[in-house]
Amino acid sequence: MSQDWNTRTKLVHSGTKRSQWNEVSEAIFLTQGFVYDTAEQAEARFIKAEPDEYIYARYGNPTVAMFEERMAAIEGCEAGFATASGMAAVNGALMAFLSAGDHVVGSRALFGSCLYILDEILPRLGVEVSLVDGRDLGAWKNAIREDTKLVFFETISNPALEVVDIKSVSAMAHAVGAIVVADNVFATPVFSKAVEQGVDIVVYSATKHIDGQGRALGGIILGPQYLIRGKVEAYMKHTGGAMSPFTAWIMLKGLETMDLRVRAQSATAAKMAEVLAGHERLERLIYPGHSSHPQNALVMEQMGNGGTMLAFDVKGGKEAAFRVLNALKIAVISNNLGDAKTIATPPAATTHQRLPQDQKEMLGITPGLVRLSLGIEDPDDLIADVLQALDHA
Ligand SMILES: *Cc1c(COP(=O)(O)O)cnc(C)c1O
Repeated sequence: MSQDWNTRTKLVHSGTKRSQWNEVSEAIFLTQGFVYDTAEQAEARFIKAEPDEYIYARYGNPTVAMFEERMAAIEGCEAGFATASGMAAVNGALMAFLSAGDHVVGSRALFGSCLYILDEILPRLGVEVSLVDGRDLGAWKNAIREDTKLVFFETISNPALEVVDIKSVSAMAHAVGAIVVADNVFATPVFSKAVEQGVDIVVYSATKHIDGQGRALGGIILGPQYLIRGKVEAYMKHTGGAMSPFTAWIMLKGLETMDLRVRAQSATAAKMAEVLAGHERLERLIYPGHSSHPQNALVMEQMGNGGTMLAFDVKGGKEAAFRVLNALKIAVISNNLGDAKTIATPPAATTHQRLPQDQKEMLGITPGLVRLSLGIEDPDDLIADVLQALDHA
């Protein structure tokens, strides 16, 4: 049975549905709708659609269902709802559960668009949001109240790689009956044990490691059947954030190689961190898998790995960091992550540009910070590339 398979087997086979042609590679059902044999069948399906009975691609589609089932299998969840982007997943996972008057606690170190939802949209709709330093268990304890409805955090934050203690924060949330929603992009589905550690709803941007080849936007919301097929599906299917069948097919192909890619990428990140630690051109190196990271023990306990992302702060600030970026010959300057190609990003100038200065300082997003998403190129070539670029600082 597929539950007994290990991750690499699940990534290739779980969720596969074959048509009457018994194709090897998953079929793309590029159709918005489905024909009913009779009017009675149409009526019955609108009353209750059984698994593998489809109505309309905004609600579900066989190719999309294959992706949802494969993701649920590897995350150890009962169900999933695939979305048009990672942000459609974050938005859906919050909006499905929240109403005016509710209280949410979130970590402050968030991807820019996640922060926009918590800091701008939810308060505008009458949801009270308390933002805390996600590393500080005392701050979580103070902020979570008897009436807290939902807790949200990135398990490893973008871009400064702060780690949230999933078990402890989930236990505090569950003690008051709050739902725990985790954006798990930086942890990757390969290293995640988030559900085992207490998270109720796990959200991914599939645009990152799941596609892993920079082709398509996508996302997924994962969790127990009663929440996913209940409030999440109801919100998503009526508000139109569905994943396209073509995108689901791209993501299925991405999943086949995800474990191989992510393990190679994280091995390269660890090797790069060893070389960059203490480098004379750097103010600091941030890699959760390196012993110099203040939360190294927590991340190793939580994921058994430091992940595929690192960051470093170049001495000399923005000008020096830009000289390093412009001197890179293999790594490209862009803002995606988890890609087969190594990608370097200056967060203060790009992804987090709009944050006010005091918030940038609070989150460690300094002008000289460079975020590096390690790709699958040869690690020695990448190390040589970064070292020669640092000579230009
Ligand atoms: C990229 C990202 C998102 C948003 O995903 P999109 O697919 O770009 O919509 C959300 N959270 C984190 C942590 C991300 O890195």
